Parts: sequence; structure tokens; C-alpha cells
Amino acid sequence: MTDTALPRVRAEIDLAALRANVRTLRAHAPTAAFMAVVKADGYGHGMIPCARAALEAGATWVGTATPEEALALRAAGVGGRVMCWLWTPGGPWREAVEADVDVSVSGMWALREVTAAARAAGRTARVQLKADTGLGRNGCMPEDWPELIAAALRAEADGLVKVTGLWSHFACADEPGHPSIKSQLDVFREMLAYAEGEGVRAEVRHIANSPATLTVPEAHFDLVRPGIAMYGVSPSPEIGTPQDFGLRPVMTVAAALASVKHAPADHGVSYGHHYTTPVATTLGLVPAGYGDGIPRHASGSGPVLVSGKWRTAAGRIAMDQFVVDLGGDEPEVGAEAVLFGAGDRGEPTAEDWARAAGTIAYEIVTRIGSRVPRVYV
Ligand code: PLP
Repeated sequence: MTDTALPRVRAEIDLAALRANVRTLRAHAPTAAFMAVVKADGYGHGMIPCARAALEAGATWVGTATPEEALALRAAGVGGRVMCWLWTPGGPWREAVEADVDVSVSGMWALREVTAAARAAGRTARVQLKADTGLGRNGCMPEDWPELIAAALRAEADGLVKVTGLWSHFACADEPGHPSIKSQLDVFREMLAYAEGEGVRAEVRHIANSPATLTVPEAHFDLVRPGIAMYGVSPSPEIGTPQDFGLRPVMTVAAALASVKHAPADHGVSYGHHYTTPVATTLGLVPAGYGDGIPRHASGSGPVLVSGKWRTAAGRIAMDQFVVDLGGDEPEVGAEAVLFGAGDRGEPTAEDWARAAGTIAYEIVTRIGSRVPRVYV
């Protein structure tokens, strides 16, 4: 039987769907360049294959959080423009400059370190100045912007940096109509006007993540930076389903049932006996658990498709396994249990698991662990 040859649990990654999602998102922002966000191992989908697929589909930039991720892309031979934005003091900035990675700078401390790296490398560093337009996370505050702009222009005159981008990030773009969307855009425009008035000539100005790419056209500027939507996952229930935007989920997580057995009524299931069989039934063992990134918070609620029916994680999800009550059905050992996927075969989606676990779908796909083989289809 072919099913028994399947790995314990696997994450199928549909790169054709990812490519189609890139094309669909580009159609939402036809005048903007496209930066494929592939940080955190491509939101769990595999950074290198996803970066390559996105570039094939028309992305011209690839975005990461850490410089190490950016360098791993270059080491794998990924071309195109690469940008990283998570500043870490003492990070591999010289290597990043040498690898032609655009580095985000949010303050004087970062500009000092990147100019030192440029001097050491004997190269001009590409920097993108990040404005805090209201996210309140990293980024340069409006009152500190003039000092940063002046210092960046001096470093540019010395040949140490080239300011390639001016950019920012939204706080609430996943809540349509949230007043901070407009106020952030207003502040961004003011900060752009100031920088440009002082003589900054950046190639790209950008602020749009997935929800802004999908729903805030005035936020597109020169480039959009979608992450989650490229993987076919909705940024939030308020924005809509992936299907509403013509997007297709890229990841399917499925396991082969490791055991199917009869159990009497009143049988306690899994640690703590948080589930007790109401009647005599059959129990299926799904060999995947929180050690694989399946959220323990979805104990008692995480949905699984087995033999065409939705079943629910019965009792606690353990590190390596959990149980589903099969209601008397007797699928063969090795039968497929689909935790989530595109939804068009009747299976649950990452959004369903997010609801079950009380989290966001970003976390569901990103936390699928390294013990789960990615199978590219
Ligand atoms: N830009 C930056 C700076 C980010 O940190 C992220 C992800 O959090 C993105 C873009 C992509 O966001 P999303 O996955 O919501 O499209």
C-alpha cells in the first residue's frame, strides 16, 4: 500500500501555488516592484526554494529579517536584490556589504556600524533608512530623522553608503479601516518629503506588507513586501480568506495514522485525561505533536481530515503524537490524516488551526518544525 510508504508526517510545499500567488499579488500592485519576504525559513516553507520560486514569478527583491538569512540566500546562489532589516549589534555587516545585501538602518548606532563595515570591506554599503511612522517597534522616530538623514548624506558623500531605500512598516494594516493606516501614511509621506528635500535619492520607497498590498493601494509606492499572502495564507480573518483574493495555500501538513484501535466507553485519552470516550469507539494516532510545531493550545480542538471526515484532536497534543476519535470508523494504519492544506479537498486550513489554537495563521505555518520533512511538489 503506497500510504504506508509516506513519512510519519510531512509538509508538502506547492511551489506552483507560490508562483501563482506572486503573480496574483503583482496584479494587485501592478506598478510596484515585488519583494518576496522569506524570513524565518520562508514562514516555514523553506527559504531557498521559496526565494527561487518567487524570483521566477517576477519578484525582483527578496526580504529577510536577519543578515544571516540574507547571507544564506547569497551562499545558495540566490540572485536579485536582497534586503535584511533586523539590526543586531556586532552582526555580520561586513559580509552583508560584500554580498551586496541592502541593510536597514534605523538609527545613528546602526549607521556608524555599517559605515565601519563598508570601510573594512572597501565597498559602498547599500542602506535603507527605516522610519517609525507609528508602529512603535524599530525605525527612526520623526524627531530623530533629520540627524539620521544628515549623517547618511555625509556617509554617501564619503562614498561609504548609498541610500537605496526609504521605508516603514504598518502596525494595523490587517484591520481594514483602522485609523493608524492613514496616519502612518501621512507621517511616511512627510518623512519621505523631508529626506528628498534634503537630497536623498532612494531607488525605492516602501511600506506595504500583505494586507496593505491587498487592500491599501495608496500604500504601494515603489515596492510591496508581502510575506504571508505569498504563502497563500490570509493575514487576518478581517481581511478575508485567501480565496477571496485568488490566493492558494502553499503548505499541506499530513501524517500517516500510526495506530487505529478500539476503545471502550469512558476511556481516558492522552496526558491528563482531558478527553474521555463518550461511547465505545475507535482511536487513531496521529504521529505529530508540538515537537513538530503542532500547537499544544489546539488540544481538544485542532481539526484533522481522516477518510473524508473532520476529526478533532482528542485530549492533549503531546510532543510527538496526538489522538483523534474516529467515531467507530476503521481506516487502515497508514491512512492519511491531513492537518491542514488548501481546503479544496475538504481538509482544514492553517486558519482553522489558528482559530483552534487561539493564535494567528502566520504562527501555524512558521512553527512547523525542522523534524517535518518539506516535500516540494
Ligand atoms: N516587511 C517587514 C519589515 C516584516 O517584518 C514583514 C513580516 O512581518 C513583512 C514585510 C511581511 O508581512 P506579511 O507577512 O504580513 O506580509
